[in-house]
Amino acid sequence: MSSSEAHETRRTGKTSEAGGVSEAGKVSGVTTSGPLPNGVEATSQAANGPVRPESPVRPDDPVRPDGPVRPDGAVQLDDVRHEYGRGRETVAAVGPVDLRVPAGEFLVLVGASGCGKSTLLRLIAGFEQPTHGSVRVSGAPPRPGTSAGVVFQTPRLFPWRTVRGNLDLALRYAGVPRARWPERRAELLARVGLEGTERRHVWEISGGQQQRVALARALAAENPLLLLDEPFAALDALTRERLQDDVREVAAQTGRTTVFVTHSADEAVFLGSRIVVLTRSPGTVALDLPIGLPRGGGVDADQLRESAEFNALRTEVAHAVKSAAAA
Ligand code: ADP
Ligand code: MG
Repeated sequence: MSSSEAHETRRTGKTSEAGGVSEAGKVSGVTTSGPLPNGVEATSQAANGPVRPESPVRPDDPVRPDGPVRPDGAVQLDDVRHEYGRGRETVAAVGPVDLRVPAGEFLVLVGASGCGKSTLLRLIAGFEQPTHGSVRVSGAPPRPGTSAGVVFQTPRLFPWRTVRGNLDLALRYAGVPRARWPERRAELLARVGLEGTERRHVWEISGGQQQRVALARALAAENPLLLLDEPFAALDALTRERLQDDVREVAAQTGRTTVFVTHSADEAVFLGSRIVVLTRSPGTVALDLPIGLPRGGGVDADQLRESAEFNALRTEVAHAVKSAAAA
């Protein structure tokens, strides 16, 4: 590491540690937008919070009556409702929703804009507490920043840091011993197709590459649940397809439980092993559809997109989204 990078690391680390809690609070939904006091947008790492080195489940977490808690990333929503505001200002955003996402599933939540997708994801991340009902991740209430890696619509990287600097920060928060950083960094960069970019600054890489860094950062903590909120919505069609191919592959390789939010029927059918379509706000489950398209190694993504099966499912989901939004 050069001396300027070392300096940068010290400076940034200090800022983030000082700002971690309030940054996480900002992303928790009540005051989502706007710059931080230090003039930097909240980062998803900050939103992920200062990730602690211990396992996602602590001994003091509530244990399900039917057995020990397993940190498997399974998600359980029971009669979940969420409202913003109070009194006459109340906005019913979501619910009631009952949903179980078994470990290893790739669930895509689809619905029209404003139906409550982001709210549901924030509830699962633990950034919001439901106004009614219960949310469990790996059998316990979610801990913001610890239970899940999160990727947002914009990459929210530290713009003055290099790719390596952004990843190192995530590895530090994840409690990975410093001696293992080079190996983990190389692994993460290879996994998201970013080999050779370590020393580039965020402003020197494309929007698609920035979103790849955000994905690598979310994978750094090795927690068993990955949450993605319309992560490719701002990218051009070709870049979006490439990233979809890679996320599908990453999910298959890592076996992580994944909840992915989109408003695109195309994206949903390509990525999901299961699709849940939400009604308009307050979003409830309108359709729960298993997707039997082939997954794992050896699947040709372009062939899949051109297949009759894919196109029939896409049409079905697009119709369901439309009628759910109108209902
Ligand atoms: P989606 O992600 O599907 O577009 P959201 O979860 O962002 O939907 O929003 C669902 C509903 O909750 C919308 O009516 C939205 O205006 C409202 N909402 C979202 N966040 C807030 C907030 N922080 N304060 C008040 N209302 C909110
Ligand atoms: Mg949203």
